Amino acid sequence: MSTLADLTIHEALDLLDSREISAFELTQAVLSRVAATEDRVHAYLNLDAEGALAQAAKADKERLSGLQAALLGIPIAVKDNISTQGIETTCGSKILKGYIPPFDATAIKHLKDAGAVILGKTNQDEFAMGSSTENSGYGVTHNPWNLDRVPGGSSGGSAAAVSVGEALGALGTDTGGSVRQPAAFCGIVGLRPSYGRISRYGLIAFASSLDQIGPLTRDVEDAALLLSVLAGADPRDSTCRPNPVPTYTEGLDTGIKGLRIGIPTDYLAGQGIQPAVAKALKEALACLEEAGAELVELRLPHTQYGIATYYLIATAEASTNLARFDGVRYGIRIAEEGTLEQMYAQTRGQGLGEEVKRRIMLGTYTLSAGYYDAYYIKAQKVRTLIKQDFDQAFEQVDILVGPTTPTTAFKLGEHITDPLQMYLEDIFTIPPALAGIPCMSVPCGFDAEGLPVGLQFMAPPMEEAQLLKAAYAYEKMTRWNKRRPVLC
Ligand code: GLN
Repeated sequence: MSTLADLTIHEALDLLDSREISAFELTQAVLSRVAATEDRVHAYLNLDAEGALAQAAKADKERLSGLQAALLGIPIAVKDNISTQGIETTCGSKILKGYIPPFDATAIKHLKDAGAVILGKTNQDEFAMGSSTENSGYGVTHNPWNLDRVPGGSSGGSAAAVSVGEALGALGTDTGGSVRQPAAFCGIVGLRPSYGRISRYGLIAFASSLDQIGPLTRDVEDAALLLSVLAGADPRDSTCRPNPVPTYTEGLDTGIKGLRIGIPTDYLAGQGIQPAVAKALKEALACLEEAGAELVELRLPHTQYGIATYYLIATAEASTNLARFDGVRYGIRIAEEGTLEQMYAQTRGQGLGEEVKRRIMLGTYTLSAGYYDAYYIKAQKVRTLIKQDFDQAFEQVDILVGPTTPTTAFKLGEHITDPLQMYLEDIFTIPPALAGIPCMSVPCGFDAEGLPVGLQFMAPPMEEAQLLKAAYAYEKMTRWNKRRPVLC
């Protein structure tokens, strides 16, 4: 049954502004949905129902007293690797069990300043390492479209929650695809901004040169709304760009007549694309052409090196970033036997999961003397070549369009014993992440089993406005985002 929990953020804001609904009612509707579906979906690690209702009541009072804020009274879920003051933040890892951050991430501060209601923390692959949310230390999340399927990852909890109505929007993080891929698998919109557009302060680092926070929403307008709130310079993150933040919701409707859209042929040939994904892409391109865009086929020749490059750089950075989890300052400490070294080993041995350990070992290896030049430095050079592919492409076109993922949501357990197969899921999401450009996934159809397919848009650095306009035009013509999974 469709309820207030199924509204988009902008629809809810209209009803709140006209006093047809209260934030309290809206939050109650979302919490009722959680009560009805969460036992089957498991999107949340930590739901703060009481806190959310208190924030909603406060938002109602503020609205009555004339306060205007961009997200006043809107219930939002947050991935568990983003620090929330006073609320346990585990990154989906046993090693951080019981860790309660003493501060808010800048993105959370922006949400709170905009009046959002924080619902709680969502499930994820441990330290954002994975593509299915199966690497969580706290159980798997199920895809609301088919409970035997993964929701994607690593922001699988956030994507599942938004898809099924357990939140109106959510924050995820994307290092190599973790916002866009789960958005595609769950039939929603997921945006990864340019590197440096949203502050990473308080985002618990996986691979710092790649990590970005991004919104997961039910339509493009909501993505624009959240980005306007979240973006902007931050003195606490020196990699955060000082560029002014446009109101991304303005001018969304300018259309795409005359827009030059590049189709990277390297994203099509021989990449294990399922026929249903290829068909949806073909139809999407025809639709964009009909709307007046000019389609241009072009090459991104270094695409084939993307995955190898990413898994060298990301694991190297992860191996150093995760060194801080040693049982001294954060989370659990296991000290069954004597020395300091033994305490480190026991804490990390028991606190970290298999995939995280695999990556720490790979990363430590690539950074070790003798291999550093051969692997790490080489990967950085190839990263530059990948970035140059995009620079050259954007000399010819305004936007690039391709599939978000080669397949629709796979079965739970299907890839978990084969990490390489899991890594291949990221083939289209990784290159733009390495290049630091903005990109997003928008629903573009369904396969024969009723599983959603995602279309990826990519734009030049800091051109989120352009990216959103193209995605908005496509969404308006097709409305695939209007279909929702029904679990109750
Ligand atoms: N699936 C990729 C990985 O496992 C990307 C994860 C992410 O973007 N956080 O690293």
